[in-house]
Amino acid sequence: MKRLILLTLVSACSDGYRLGQREAETIVWYGEFRQTEKPPLVVWEDTDGCLEGARCPAGLFYPDEYWAKIAWRSKGRISATAYVHELLHAKHALQNIYDPDHELPEWREAERINELLKSQGL
Ligand SMILES: [Zn+2]
Repeated sequence: MKRLILLTLVSACSDGYRLGQREAETIVWYGEFRQTEKPPLVVWEDTDGCLEGARCPAGLFYPDEYWAKIAWRSKGRISATAYVHELLHAKHALQNIYDPDHELPEWREAERINELLKSQGL
């Protein structure tokens, strides 16, 4: 029994997914954003501050390599991270849209989607 629990823990951690990320991926990427491609790899960085750099971002998306680095705050929920924001960058990358300054009206949707995740306990 002990071995089974250990194996379960290992397999739950090894793919790098955080608590609620799979549910959020289904809701945000496949649901709200209606994507059929794979979502980007998300690399979480445990920090109660921000990621590196002068602008102190909560997330960074790398379109060429199609992955995102996102700050995961302790006791955090995925709706409180930049997850939705970075997935929107990824969606744009797949559409060959370059909008680093967030000028498209679609960015206003991110807040609503985060509220939706929050209402699901994510
Ligand atoms: Zn951004």
